[in-house]
Amino acid sequence: MHEHVFVLNEEIRLNYPGDWDEEARVADAAAKLNALRARGCDTIVDPTVIGLGRDIRRIREVARRTEINIVVATGLYTYDDVPFYFRFRGRHSESGADPMTTMFVADITDGIAGTGVKAAFLKCAIEDQGLTPGVERVLRAVAGAHAETGAPITVHTHPGSESGLDAMRVLAEEGADLSRVVMGHSGDATDLDYLARLADAGCLLGMDRFGLNALLPFEQRVDTVAELARRGYADRMVLSHDAACYIDWFRPEQIGAFAPDWHFGHLFDDVLPALLERGVTQAQIETMLVATPRRYFCGPAGA
Ligand SMILES: [Zn+2]
Repeated sequence: MHEHVFVLNEEIRLNYPGDWDEEARVADAAAKLNALRARGCDTIVDPTVIGLGRDIRRIREVARRTEINIVVATGLYTYDDVPFYFRFRGRHSESGADPMTTMFVADITDGIAGTGVKAAFLKCAIEDQGLTPGVERVLRAVAGAHAETGAPITVHTHPGSESGLDAMRVLAEEGADLSRVVMGHSGDATDLDYLARLADAGCLLGMDRFGLNALLPFEQRVDTVAELARRGYADRMVLSHDAACYIDWFRPEQIGAFAPDWHFGHLFDDVLPALLERGVTQAQIETMLVATPRRYFCGPAGA
């Protein structure tokens, strides 16, 4: 429910390509996704949007070479300000509409950049900087596109500063259906009160950074999911790694050193067995991996 094919700064890549090899990178991504397909995974949900280097043509080429379905997103990823492109647009507009909303809606209804490939959900972020004016603008634009299209929302949150609560308040103010909102990176938290506040309001918890044990150790990640399941929240959680086939935030050897388990196989190799050991049932795992994602995308009627 939260994996990336590519996370890139496209402007850096274009100007400082280094040893970037388009064909090799696309082939590598397809191979990694095919390996995941062989584990029985049919679909990944990829919240790569503006700010993370979305290139829909590259994704389409990867998709052509794998049987995995790649569900793509629209939205904007920033922790503070909006890109300069948006800084002066949308001010003093006659309709009062934010052009960002119009762009997101078009990605969902018409398709992205003339490809006909439609985004199925919306992505925004709120980190420990909190609700800056830029972040608030993106949250409200995302909520506007959600209201117009019914597409669900994934928010990158920072549980350490409880930023999910601010996101929830703003989205609720805009009339968002919180049962169609994933509070991403909730799995970085062990604070059950914080997590229950989000879940009790209807939000889904993204327990979605398995393998990033430098942020929270494996044992604490699985213990938290197991305890929430025991308390009746299995239908409010989704599981994932937030891993990427390729991410330029780190040198490849860095990832091997600080997060050796941060890859698409970790859930199947380590996480699911550890959850079963802790009393999570196969039915609850099925709920987290299949039924809840279906409800998130389709709404109650599709569940
Ligand atoms: Zn992510």
